[in-house]
Amino acid sequence: MFKKVLIANRGEIALRVLRACKELGIATVAVHSTADADAMHVRLADESVCIGPPPSKDSYLNIHEILAACEITGADAIHPGYGFLSENAKFAEILEAHSITFIGPSAEHIRVMGDKIEAKKTASKLGIPVVPGSEGEITEEEDAKRIAADIGYPVIVKAAFGGGGRGMKVANSESEMSEAFHTARTEAGAAFGNSAVYIEKYLAKPRHIEVQVLGDGKGGGIHLGERDCSLQRRHQKIWEEATSPVIDDAAREKIGTICANAVQGLGYSGAGTVEFLYENGEFYFIEMNTRLQVEHPVTEMITRIDLVNEQLHVASGVGMSVTQEDIKFSGHAIECRINAENPDTFVPCPGTITHYHVPGGLGVRVDSGMYHGYKIPSHYDSLIGKLIVHGRDRPECLMRLRRALDEFVVDGIETTLPLFRDLVSNEDILAGDYDIHWLEKYLAEKNQTG
Ligand code: ADP
Repeated sequence: MFKKVLIANRGEIALRVLRACKELGIATVAVHSTADADAMHVRLADESVCIGPPPSKDSYLNIHEILAACEITGADAIHPGYGFLSENAKFAEILEAHSITFIGPSAEHIRVMGDKIEAKKTASKLGIPVVPGSEGEITEEEDAKRIAADIGYPVIVKAAFGGGGRGMKVANSESEMSEAFHTARTEAGAAFGNSAVYIEKYLAKPRHIEVQVLGDGKGGGIHLGERDCSLQRRHQKIWEEATSPVIDDAAREKIGTICANAVQGLGYSGAGTVEFLYENGEFYFIEMNTRLQVEHPVTEMITRIDLVNEQLHVASGVGMSVTQEDIKFSGHAIECRINAENPDTFVPCPGTITHYHVPGGLGVRVDSGMYHGYKIPSHYDSLIGKLIVHGRDRPECLMRLRRALDEFVVDGIETTLPLFRDLVSNEDILAGDYDIHWLEKYLAEKNQTG
């Protein structure tokens, strides 16, 4: 096992990784920008190194500084968390060249899955069902129109190197295709430095279902069931559940086995997530994320498996501590992403937390770097914490979530907590009856009446 791990991230995920390291007796190194000198991950780490000024490109994305921090402290591995350098194949390669272990899959697997066109081809070869669409990149408007007509409208034009729900444009008919195609290409070029786009059938009412996988890098691989992340705003998840209200044991077993087999076939190493849209009982692969996900705790709650602990096991060469037979699903878990944003307009609202009280009790987990008096910097993502609740079944989980949300106090800034207090009593949510468009419609109606 590693002796010392450097955590190349900030906020709640840096803390999450730090906790797993501490439980394994691994020393931790926090890195931080000047804006994060007072952050909780810095306070709790054994050592910390300032790696630059507030902008991410000068600090959390600054590979030279992170490498220097690693050498100064003598860390033998780096955990990238999610976001920042977590899916940067080059970073993984540079670490390898410096004999520092990257806690994640191989650079090759990151690269293949980071290119969504390649990812779809690879998934298809591995026996994973994919969304019908173009075979590869589309560069000409005429081809886009021809392929869209073959697939049938509506279609979605997607950036091959997109992420975070950006770089996607829907065309409902041929008359909308020209604009969708050119806008998507321009946006992709500007946001991701590569204007490659592809076309997929636009599914009207799917749910977003994703499967958590773990591979040992030597042909061994397992799945840890699904998460339902259908509640999204602008293609960004805000509420996640495990298990999904619409997936039964047989469907879970079937798609889980397909994903586990794919992980084995790839020789994939570490934690990953295979993402699907799910409609009329069919799964359609959209992408694979080669890192720990924000929503991983719901899986941990129903399996009682510590996914970061498993990542550390695999990366250090000890191997996974669990087999497929060890994975048993118990009860239901829901995660709410708490953002420092106005709950109606979603405008970011950084500032100082003047009062802070976290809920507790059976089945309640809060992953957050927040504390009383903490000043949230304006330079980063607005995710400031996650409330995760477990119950023996979905109704008990919802009841507990309602209670926990009532207890949660974050004063001094605006947060999305009020939105979750509304959602947790909504009839459709209680019935588990929602698709990926439900939240947008709900918010539009709320704005009209409010
Ligand atoms: P990103 O990498 O930006 O997260 P994804 O391919 O994972 O992009 O898609 C994100 C979200 O966009 C999905 O969860 C879904 O809400 C929507 N989406 C993507 N592809 C389709 C599609 N073919 N039909 C309908 N919605 C889609």
